[in-house]
Amino acid sequence: MDDVASPALDIRTSEALYAKARHTIPGGVNSPARAFKSVGGTPLFIQDAQGTTLTDVDGNTYIDYVGSWGPMLFGHADPDTVAAVQDAATRSTSYGAPTSIEIDVAELVVDLVPSIDKVRMVNSGTEATMSAARVARGYTGRDKIIKFAGNYHGHGDFFLIGAGSGPLTHGTPDSPGVTEGNAKDTLLARYNDLDHVEQLLEAHAGEVACIIVEPIAGNMGCIPPEPGFLEGLRRLCDHHDALLIFDEVMTGFRVAPGGAQERYGVIPDLTTLGKIIGGGLPVGAYGGKQAVMDHVSPEGPVYQAGTLSGNPLAMHAGYTVLQKIHDRRDTLYDQLEDYAEALARGTRHNLDALGLSYYTTQVGAMGCLFFTERTVTDLDDAKACDTERYADYFHAMLEEGVYLAPSQFEAYFFGALHDEDTLDATLKAQRRALKRVH
Ligand SMILES: *Cc1c(COP(=O)(O)O)cnc(C)c1O
Repeated sequence: MDDVASPALDIRTSEALYAKARHTIPGGVNSPARAFKSVGGTPLFIQDAQGTTLTDVDGNTYIDYVGSWGPMLFGHADPDTVAAVQDAATRSTSYGAPTSIEIDVAELVVDLVPSIDKVRMVNSGTEATMSAARVARGYTGRDKIIKFAGNYHGHGDFFLIGAGSGPLTHGTPDSPGVTEGNAKDTLLARYNDLDHVEQLLEAHAGEVACIIVEPIAGNMGCIPPEPGFLEGLRRLCDHHDALLIFDEVMTGFRVAPGGAQERYGVIPDLTTLGKIIGGGLPVGAYGGKQAVMDHVSPEGPVYQAGTLSGNPLAMHAGYTVLQKIHDRRDTLYDQLEDYAEALARGTRHNLDALGLSYYTTQVGAMGCLFFTERTVTDLDDAKACDTERYADYFHAMLEEGVYLAPSQFEAYFFGALHDEDTLDATLKAQRRALKRVH
């Protein structure tokens, strides 16, 4: 599959850089999702991105549906975000002491996200979920966590059990280096299967600290919760005195101003955030009810720290993005929803015209096209998809100027700058691309 690169696309500079990168960087990339491992070919090295488009080092330009895996809600090089970061940088890139912008960001998060009374900033989604799980364990005095097969919560040891996209794509659901000790405290449940969760809670009565869930799964493609699933998790957690953690690193500020919890009206005890919250700078956060968050050091006994946490450049970028969300929350999400629906409708039309089997999902500003003959509600369904057809589709779309995630097990993302023009161009490109998909 390594030579499916298009003859139409000149990517010689990317190829040369990729070869060079592999001498000094494992696999040539700093995060596995960027390698084109499941679709074959050479990862594109990016030179520049503006608004809705990416330009690679060979000068090819693409409509972007990855958006740095989520953060680019207001497009690349958003002038407000760039100005805020530039201005902040002139006053030093870090102090390791408190700043007022951290309060401003915290207040916006508390205002926007229903479950959050207090919030702690970290530097990635991974840190946010690791910290939230530690707080849940510290708060309940219990060791075990329940997670769902195909949900991804970053690369913390005890989450790399049945994790989604990256590990799925790479065929190593249980990474070497994760100890048995870590694995034994992680219980794995089927997504959208409440009975299974209940069985696990009963089999381990009094031992489960928390259930952590992607309230809309976005790391095995995009799989929304079935009606009643999130409500059921809330009920089961209450009954078993376990905390409910919504991992909204992906869905936060993407499917509603207050994330999936606002959209579905289910309030978790702890929420993890990332991606959009940093506007493209490295930021994660976790927050929740005051009684739980007061267990975090230095207020409480659960230790968690970070030299660069609340970094001024990152906070100014995050503040800019969150303030824009706050100002535009009455119209922004309707606009995103309209785009999502039009894109999904056009996509179905294109696929029907060719008689190809598919299943589409979409929630707010994320969605997925699965090449499959069945409904996709859990990891087994996602794994049954035709990943080779997706690889064909991915490369054909690149040739037509559309940049999708290089794996069937990822969602597509778009933002506020995707408009009628990008929609038209995307659907036209898709019509041409699908004809070359086998
Ligand atoms: C991306 C993601 C993470 C990990 O965030 P990083 O910033 O990559 O560490 C965790 N949870 C979910 C749901 C994600 O999508």
